[in-house]
Amino acid sequence: MRVILAQPRGFCAGVVRAIEIVDRALQKHGAPVYVRHEIVHNRHVVENLRNKGARFVEELDEVPEGAVAIFSAHGVAKTVERAAEERELDVLDATCPLVTKVHVQGRQYVAAGRTLILIGHAGHPEVEGTIGQIPGTVLLVQSEADVQKLDLPLDAPLAYVTQTTLSVDDTRGIIDALVKRFSDIVGPDTRDICYATQNRQAAVRDLSSQVDVLLVVGATNSSNSNRLREIGSESGLPSYLVADGSEVKPEWFAGVTTVGLTAGASAPEEMVENVIDALRALGPVEVSTMAGREEKVEFKLPSKLLQPLVAREV
Ligand code: SF4
Repeated sequence: MRVILAQPRGFCAGVVRAIEIVDRALQKHGAPVYVRHEIVHNRHVVENLRNKGARFVEELDEVPEGAVAIFSAHGVAKTVERAAEERELDVLDATCPLVTKVHVQGRQYVAAGRTLILIGHAGHPEVEGTIGQIPGTVLLVQSEADVQKLDLPLDAPLAYVTQTTLSVDDTRGIIDALVKRFSDIVGPDTRDICYATQNRQAAVRDLSSQVDVLLVVGATNSSNSNRLREIGSESGLPSYLVADGSEVKPEWFAGVTTVGLTAGASAPEEMVENVIDALRALGPVEVSTMAGREEKVEFKLPSKLLQPLVAREV
């Protein structure tokens, strides 16, 4: 069996930064540090940090007053920021700068007198954070059908922003429907969809024409990983989302000679290796990597963590 690895795949700059923030916070303050929500949507990453002393909580009332609290890469609502201040928590914000950019953009549109539409998936923490960062009502649109249901004057001043990890194609369809229906609407086109999401989707689209089956390493609650699997399915390929090698099923590979393998932005490369090992257990495997885009994006850490670490007393 030939395995072709997508390029790029796996960790993006926002995920690398978020994990580094938890690691450095543990080095600086010692365990425990508290992380609100999964720092990124990946069980292996969360387990690894938990083993080092991070405690994951869903709400800040689970964090003792004055403790170190880290916000996840998905961002949080203003109410969460205020609750942290009231409890005098020592906050480290791991919100991806590209998510923060969407918050800023949304606030600017509202300040300019426009009603804001957010294109995204209900219940995703990034969507909840973005809605909670923008004053007033934010209307969530998940599909082209939702656009037709919007109860707004057709000439109302509107603007849209999008979740960072959507399907480029689906989002284009929704934006086209918005622009067609409403006469005074502005937005950043699909540019809110982050570079990592766009690059991973483009790579999978290319890879799909070269393989018989697509495997995506990622978590079921990871938005960008789900979109990668959908792109494989839309290209007519049997496509499966797996957390690691233990979820690989031999029956997927009957008569298959070439497997495409990619990973969502929150999936560690060790899990890609783990999936390759599971494929090796089925028979000889030849691994290659497709020609693809090199990513050189890096995000700065919060200034609080840039000071040199002082050895702690034990
Ligand atoms: S997927 Fe994009 S928006 Fe999300 S953390 Fe990574 S770089 Fe940031």
